[in-house]
Amino acid sequence: MTISENLEKFKTELPADVTLVAVSKTKPVSDLMEAYNSGQRVFGENKIQEMETKWREMPKDIEWHMIGHVQRNKVKYMAPFVRLIHAVDSFKLLKEINKEAKKNERTINCLLQIKIAEEESKFGMDEADAATLLASEEIKKLQNIKIVGLMGMATFTDDDEQVSEEFQKLKKIFDEFKVHDSGFKILSMGMSGDYKLAIENGSNMVRVGSAIFGDRNYM
Ligand SMILES: *Cc1c(COP(=O)(O)O)cnc(C)c1O
Repeated sequence: MTISENLEKFKTELPADVTLVAVSKTKPVSDLMEAYNSGQRVFGENKIQEMETKWREMPKDIEWHMIGHVQRNKVKYMAPFVRLIHAVDSFKLLKEINKEAKKNERTINCLLQIKIAEEESKFGMDEADAATLLASEEIKKLQNIKIVGLMGMATFTDDDEQVSEEFQKLKKIFDEFKVHDSGFKILSMGMSGDYKLAIENGSNMVRVGSAIFGDRNYM
């Protein structure tokens, strides 16, 4: 199947209130343009410099999402244009994003990444730390960032029940935080292998790479 056929399939399959982020990391601009030409406008990358290069080369009505772990010293490269940063996991990082957003006279939308998987390798905050952060006085002083929801990654396993439980856990945290903050709107969970389970469990933003663009070759 071609990229546009894959996208067509997602468009018919996904509920209308679920946003599809086309994860284009490692893929050439020609692949992204094929997706763009079949109507896709939201793209996700996990390396800031790669995203910046693609942003420069591609049409300016694209929404660029940073879905990967963010190093503070690179925030400045994406601050002029990034639409949503999915994987924020510390106050220090938020402070840096706020500083660079201010320089660009922008407000940058962020998601807090919550650790729901078993694997030690997955980044993210635990629920208590996120709750403390959201309730803190310091965060109110950051006028150029907005925390609009949560992001999480389930354990990489064939055990659907475990994956569902992890997604349910995140949905529950999302609903609890939402009670205190009406700006909470986005629950980013689900990738090529588990987006169906994620949507069943309340996701409204899925990050899909290989099921659209094919397998990635890392060199
Ligand atoms: C690469 C990546 C994805 C997409 O993965 P696929 O399995 O190719 O759909 C989603 N989220 C994050 C954070 C990623 O790094």
